[in-house]
Amino acid sequence: MQTMKVADILSVKGADVVTIREDEPIAAAIALLARNRIGAVLVVDQDNTVKGIFSERDVVHALHQHRADLFDKRVADLMTREVVTCLPGDNIAAIMAMMTSGRFRHIPVLEDGKLAGIISIGDVVKSRIAEAESEVDALRRYISL
Ligand code: AMP
Repeated sequence: MQTMKVADILSVKGADVVTIREDEPIAAAIALLARNRIGAVLVVDQDNTVKGIFSERDVVHALHQHRADLFDKRVADLMTREVVTCLPGDNIAAIMAMMTSGRFRHIPVLEDGKLAGIISIGDVVKSRIAEAESEVDALRRYISL
């Protein structure tokens, strides 16, 4: 059985990524998270180049740190700048390892340096469960031959 790759997930969920510019007010980023029911927005420039990532965990940290001044901030003030990315050909097992060791739940996908999608921990878990189920099916078929 072939191991699942990032491209397999993107072929089902598509390449859409919710993005924002770094000079936007933080309220705009929080609105995007809430309205789209997502955990992170990707911060890009006008060429769609990745500049950072802003997730719900950043909201919690910023609330704790800045309290009522949170809404004076811009995305650039609170985003994570060093973004770990992956490639469409990467194995899902490697993505899981990156998320575990980096303690984050989102990894943008770059193809030829261009944004080609985003993988969340939910996508990874779904794909691992599907993989495990199909292995069980294959084994069941094998023993009932
Ligand atoms: P998350 O678990 O995705 O909500 O993110 C936890 C923390 O890691 C937040 O500070 C995010 O800004 C940051 N983060 C999320 N995804 C990445 C990534 N791919 N590379 C680097 N940092 C990230």
